[in-house]
Amino acid sequence: MQKVIFRIDDIGASTKQFEQYGRFIIGNFWFLKTIWPFKKWGPYKELTAKEWTEFLKIFEQKNIKPIIAVTACWVEKNSELTPFPQKFPEEANILKQAFLNGKVEIANHGLTHCVVGKHLPKFCGSNRKYHREFWPDLNQSTHNEHIMKSQEILENYFQKPITIFVPPGNVWSYKTYLALAKTNIKKVMSGRYMADSKEPMHLIEFVGDQKSFFICHDRDLKNKMLNYHYV
Ligand SMILES: [Zn+2]
Repeated sequence: MQKVIFRIDDIGASTKQFEQYGRFIIGNFWFLKTIWPFKKWGPYKELTAKEWTEFLKIFEQKNIKPIIAVTACWVEKNSELTPFPQKFPEEANILKQAFLNGKVEIANHGLTHCVVGKHLPKFCGSNRKYHREFWPDLNQSTHNEHIMKSQEILENYFQKPITIFVPPGNVWSYKTYLALAKTNIKKVMSGRYMADSKEPMHLIEFVGDQKSFFICHDRDLKNKMLNYHYV
């Protein structure tokens, strides 16, 4: 059997609080397959340190080294940014130990996951579009700033180079690539190539995550844990 890469997205992302829309379809898989009570995307709570400890144990037993895609800042209601290690210090610490011990890989999942200022739920309808961060029509300086800041926060905290970038919602642009080229990022993992260009990249590899990947969100683990505790 081909080795499957297990990735968990949206750690530390306020998208879980503010992105709200209807049903979401995802394939069944593995030990999680019986527990998908999907109704609406948000809101749901961040995983706790205790929940992570239990999941990390399961991953280790199953010989899985997951890629954990962390969004570097939580976007508050008033659009202020709180860095992940400050917002969720206990969770961050568990992940840091796991990363430094080689049990998980930490990836960059953006600075904000969203377009700041447009992230709050709408009175009516979906705000999903604005829970993507790297739209091609944003200017180069926004791409640069979000990539630089997110790398800085994650690398300063985790004390290790961050080499994988997972664009939120598979949306990224040639401008994102130009920004990434100045960092330690060596791979972009995404379901899609740049939204606005077919230009090849130098020194950065594109890894299409449609095949040989199992991708879930912390929401899926959260639901698993809820069932685990209450069933
Ligand atoms: Zn995401």
